[in-house]
Amino acid sequence: MLKKIFVGLAVTAGSAQAEAPKVVTDIAPVHSLVARVMQGVTEPSLIMPAGSSPHNYAMRPSEARALQQAEVVFWVGEDLTPWLERSVDTLASDAMSVELLHVEGGLLLPMRENAVFAQHEDHEEDGDHHAEGHDDHDDHDDHDDHDDHDDHDDAHTDQGNDKHHDEHGHAHDGNDPHVWLSPENAKLWLGVIAETLSEIDSNNAELYSVNAAAAVSELDDLVDRMRGDLAPYAETPFVVFHDAYQYFEASIGLQARGALQLSDASTPSAARLHDIQEEIAEQGIQCVFAEPQFNDAIVHSVAPDGVKIGLLDPLGVELGTGPSLYPNLLNAMAKSFEKCLK
Ligand SMILES: [Zn+2]
Repeated sequence: MLKKIFVGLAVTAGSAQAEAPKVVTDIAPVHSLVARVMQGVTEPSLIMPAGSSPHNYAMRPSEARALQQAEVVFWVGEDLTPWLERSVDTLASDAMSVELLHVEGGLLLPMRENAVFAQHEDHEEDGDHHAEGHDDHDDHDDHDDHDDHDDHDDAHTDQGNDKHHDEHGHAHDGNDPHVWLSPENAKLWLGVIAETLSEIDSNNAELYSVNAAAAVSELDDLVDRMRGDLAPYAETPFVVFHDAYQYFEASIGLQARGALQLSDASTPSAARLHDIQEEIAEQGIQCVFAEPQFNDAIVHSVAPDGVKIGLLDPLGVELGTGPSLYPNLLNAMAKSFEKCLK
């Protein structure tokens, strides 16, 4: 049950309000982008506290109350937080619901199901592709390849993945929900956030628009710098803890070889861990990433002595919330990659 309300057809009532709009967001990176656009007006609420996993979370009463009072809810979407969908429908039924994952023109990649990822031939020949600017999206034609792998997986349900999805009531349509780690998506959303807020709070429309434009240009500078810093590591193999990073990889020009956990953070099977260990040994992989909100014992169990253990923080749990969290998160991620891949 997708609730898609696109900007442009959602204005109903209450155009020029005296009070600042009541805005609710799901995760800290989305909160950061919305807070940046609302800078100088007010702050949005954040539903998910730092340190919790969006893939399964139980809302507290204060968070439910914030939803009830919301005029707008900006959230990634049910692919990331299936538990939030019903709450948005029931508690925030009068609010505008903007599912960022479904914003038109955004980059949406299929989940990578296998422990070890398919290698993209053209990546090898095309080492300087990120220097070409924003043509990265061409890469995603390759992801048609992944359909083959999906079929493959279906035949191997002994891995238990399908079962797991059912248990969690996943509306598993195969999208990788970590869409905020694409700076290009974030730039698109900044515009959508400004337009949406302007519709319910036209008094501040100009400020929203100016803030969004400034944030976009700051992100452009940051992306240029990250691409430059990480260009030497375009072909350096690494393994991630849970498969949250393909949007960042696609934008910046990196390529993970595998993930211990699926994109929905389900518990890995023994077979999956074995595949990863084999890949680390065969490819001579020197860098495996842990994450702050997950126990890193499993990472240490697959990484042989001498392999570097890096840390990636896709939600910014170790950063202060607010307008600067999002650029800080990307910057910290780029630094972690550089340190581990060096
Ligand atoms: Zn995740």
